[in-house]
Amino acid sequence: MPVRVVLLGPPGAGKGTQAAKIKEKRDVAHISTGDILRDNVEKGTEIGLAAKSFMDSGRLVPDDVIIGMIRVRLSCDDATEGGFILDGFPRTTAQAEALDRLLDELSLHLDAALLLEISDDEVVRRLSNRRVCQSCGAIYNLVARQTKEEGACDACGGRVVQRDDDKEAVIRNRLMVYRERTSPLIAYYERKGLLFRVDGAKSGNAAMLLLESIGVM
Ligand code: ADP
Ligand code: ZN
Repeated sequence: MPVRVVLLGPPGAGKGTQAAKIKEKRDVAHISTGDILRDNVEKGTEIGLAAKSFMDSGRLVPDDVIIGMIRVRLSCDDATEGGFILDGFPRTTAQAEALDRLLDELSLHLDAALLLEISDDEVVRRLSNRRVCQSCGAIYNLVARQTKEEGACDACGGRVVQRDDDKEAVIRNRLMVYRERTSPLIAYYERKGLLFRVDGAKSGNAAMLLLESIGVM
């Protein structure tokens, strides 16, 4: 049975970590708009050029760019057949409505929207200590999850660095953007009966356990 879920929650709530845990158990497409965007920035594509200044300042990339990207990715066979975890999308009401239309076109439905709940202080603490592998995207933390060798990825040996937008001033801005633009989606999915809350301060497999408990996986 394919799993089709949306992960909601502020930056640093652990969406990427939880998605990776679900993926260990089920072969679903992990679709992270942040990762797709960073990949485009690195390759210097048109999308990357359009997105970079928004990302660097912690603002949202315009909806039409994001929706176009998701339309392409979600239509791939692995996602339509095997299921998907949307990580960092939707982030605005317009994006959520576009997702509903797209799923309609594909004759698919969402199983759940999981809200990872975590305090602002914890977000700042986590993100300022977060480091990521430039090559494979593996996530580390200076306090909670160090690399074996300093600056090198345990999984692939790639360079492990701090994202430009994980600096405190930008983190505060991302939190504000989350509150204004993304948090209305909590009510949006609540109305559809799809919202489930997960304690983001808990261990990395809380989302997976919740999906198991509601019979989605
Ligand atoms: P996090 O969840 O840690 O904030 P992401 O990696 O999901 O970070 O996103 C990084 C940046 O990419 C965001 O701050 C934003 O500029 C852009 N971005 C990612 N997903 C979206 C989206 N769905 N809509 C608009 N902008 C997005
Ligand atoms: Zn790596």
